[in-house]
Amino acid sequence: MENVRTSGPLPVPEPVGAASVRGIVSHRGEGFRRLLGDVTDGLRPFFGTTGAVLPFTCSGTGGMEAAVVNCVAPGERVLALCAGYFGERFAAVARAHGAEVTEHRVPWGRALDPAEVRGVLRAAGPFRAVLVTHNETSTGVLNPLREVCEAVREESDALILVDGVSSVGAIPVEMDAWGADVVVTVTQKALLAQPGISPVAAGERALAAARGRGGPRYYFDFPRMADAVTEGTTTYTPAVSVLQGLDAAVRLLREEGPENVFRRHRHAARHLRRRLTGLGLSPLVAPEDASPTVTAVRLPAGVPADAVRGRLEREHGVLVAGGRGPWKADTVRIGHMGVFREDQLDAAAEALAETVGHLAAAPAAR
Ligand code: PMP
Repeated sequence: MENVRTSGPLPVPEPVGAASVRGIVSHRGEGFRRLLGDVTDGLRPFFGTTGAVLPFTCSGTGGMEAAVVNCVAPGERVLALCAGYFGERFAAVARAHGAEVTEHRVPWGRALDPAEVRGVLRAAGPFRAVLVTHNETSTGVLNPLREVCEAVREESDALILVDGVSSVGAIPVEMDAWGADVVVTVTQKALLAQPGISPVAAGERALAAARGRGGPRYYFDFPRMADAVTEGTTTYTPAVSVLQGLDAAVRLLREEGPENVFRRHRHAARHLRRRLTGLGLSPLVAPEDASPTVTAVRLPAGVPADAVRGRLEREHGVLVAGGRGPWKADTVRIGHMGVFREDQLDAAAEALAETVGHLAAAPAAR
């Protein structure tokens, strides 16, 4: 059995797989209305919203694009908070749609600092929207979303668009209480289902912005999708089988209880970190910034990530993700989101220590 410790897609629990092949229902029928209602009701607590949850059939990047095109018109000013690869992607999406993007970058491996964000808003505002990644999967950094939202709210009336792709379902998100306007996530990570749907939570201010103008769009229109969902359907043919899987997945998460799910992820991150440092390995990120869902591990000089990943898979059946950006060759990332057992994390840490030791001692054996 492989030990899949990537940051998604992940193997789905058996009930999720079974639900997704149960037989397709028509998205204009009563069965679908019930399914959609159950899924959106079930997801709300994980977004921390009482508002609209819009299931777009696309990957997470599609959800990010949906957030941008509904809230930002070409030429409008956007502040993109970038702590890594996915923060920069959000900025690129906005730029592709003609926004005038100011990037605030922090070094990869560090979290955003709300005081710095406040400073940028004062010095360079006003902005139509602020883009922020909650959990930066590329480095394993958890950004202080609540405090960032607080800073944005106090300093401006910019819309807050959140990439919650690797956080929603594993890390608390209180969209309404924190004042975020859009939170984007995906089915294939902490939500335990197959890839194919990007559930997007859109608050009243975001819907009003889209009704007012927003950017050019057709498929990704928030107001039309919100109206359709209210009527128990979607604007266009959805990935029905993925929604069926997601329905089963959300039931599993709700049975476990959101607080228990969040605690399990926090605990896993701390446990893995202890194991790694105990084995002489160094997590990239400081403990106070560390993500509950993914941990990047620094590799010693001369031990490249590709060689580590290859040997881990071949010799140990452990799949990890490679590094990104400046840390591409020098880190691997171990995922701990969704369903996993502690002994799988232990096995991954031990296999990594063995692999690093082997490659450091015998570079020729690569
Ligand atoms: N944002 C974050 C934080 C991610 O981790 C990912 C995927 N790893 C994405 C966006 C993009 O998601 P997708 O591959 O589903 O488009």
